[in-house]
Amino acid sequence: MLQGQCLCGAVRFTVEGPPKWTSYCHCRSCRRHTGAPVSAYAGFESAKVRFTHGEPAYFSSSAGVRRGFCARCGSTLSYEGERWPGEIHMHIGAFDDPSSLAPAGQAFADERLPWLHLT
Ligand SMILES: [Zn+2]
Ligand SMILES: [Zn+2]
Repeated sequence: MLQGQCLCGAVRFTVEGPPKWTSYCHCRSCRRHTGAPVSAYAGFESAKVRFTHGEPAYFSSSAGVRRGFCARCGSTLSYEGERWPGEIHMHIGAFDDPSSLAPAGQAFADERLPWLHLT
């Protein structure tokens, strides 16, 4: 069981089992929401993710999409979209130990920043 939290600890979560997939996302919306040049996600079945302390606040960045974040400290936590029913995508950086969650894919690679080099 992996666990994680936002920066201030107001929102904590646990996930059961390994992720279905892991990936970077280079899209502009993720870039703006995180302030980081690239985002990294681990995708889980929604039923396997439990918020154990507090709840994320949500921002709908486009129709059918909601992005979870901590209303107190602003940490980005999750992404859910109608294109991925029954899935929740957790920001890898929010896990207590992200070392086992190496991103295996590159989403929206065409929007990657030209100076960003990933091995
Ligand atoms: Zn917080
Ligand atoms: Zn994205």
